Amino acid sequence: MNDDYLEIRGLSVEFDGFKAIDGVDLTLLQGRLHFLIGPNGAGKTTLVDAVTGLVPATGLARYRHRDLLHTKSHRIVRAGIGRTFQTATVFEGLSVLQNLDIAGGVHRSAWRMALARRGTPSYVEEALETIGLADLRDKPAGVLAHGQKQWLEIGMLLVQDARVMLLDEPVAGMSAEERAETGELLRRIGRERTIVVIEHDMEFVRSYADVVTVMHAGKVLAEGTVAEIQADPRVQEVYLGR
Ligand code: ADP
Repeated sequence: MNDDYLEIRGLSVEFDGFKAIDGVDLTLLQGRLHFLIGPNGAGKTTLVDAVTGLVPATGLARYRHRDLLHTKSHRIVRAGIGRTFQTATVFEGLSVLQNLDIAGGVHRSAWRMALARRGTPSYVEEALETIGLADLRDKPAGVLAHGQKQWLEIGMLLVQDARVMLLDEPVAGMSAEERAETGELLRRIGRERTIVVIEHDMEFVRSYADVVTVMHAGKVLAEGTVAEIQADPRVQEVYLGR
């Protein structure tokens, strides 16, 4: 196994004595679409918050030998870990291109940015093509459809060269067509990245998951393929309510 995977061991997060995450172990390999599911309050978002430095945690979260739990949030981004939130956080008044340009700047030195001013940098062009928004490059992000905003956010992670992408319900509120396009997009970009998706839409999970981790009450309840977790009686009991 190469070192391009996210390793989580004994991860715990406490809020005033309440264990929101309680000793989670996970190995998230490159080239697979990982889905994180579980009932509300299971700890999915808190897990992503812990790995991206937004809440203090104990245990271990490591990517390419870097100890993420002792790394500041902005350095975690530079280390190649990117995330999205449930509501898209694009700059509505700026164009699609400007949004990508700014996101790319997080990562690049001032002189490279200055050089890039001569034209659209190739990494931005590539991202525009990948997310399918090349024709809308000059439109203000505020006029984009809901699905397109989510794709722009993913594009912003691409230009930041995020090798690990943690996506919080990327298809929530999308049409069936947008969901399918998003699934195909994740498959394409997931070949060379580690992608972890928090998701409630089981139809989407069934269609695109390589690996599913089920969380419940701050712990990992089950892990496996969709078929494996669906057949697991513990999962049926707590998650599917059967
Ligand atoms: P999920 O994403 O699976 O719905 P969360 O990670 O949002 O679950 O929440 C896990 C648990 O931690 C919940 O019981 C939630 O109320 C609690 N929690 C989350 N964030 C905080 C916080 N900042 N302060 C106190 N409790 C929190």
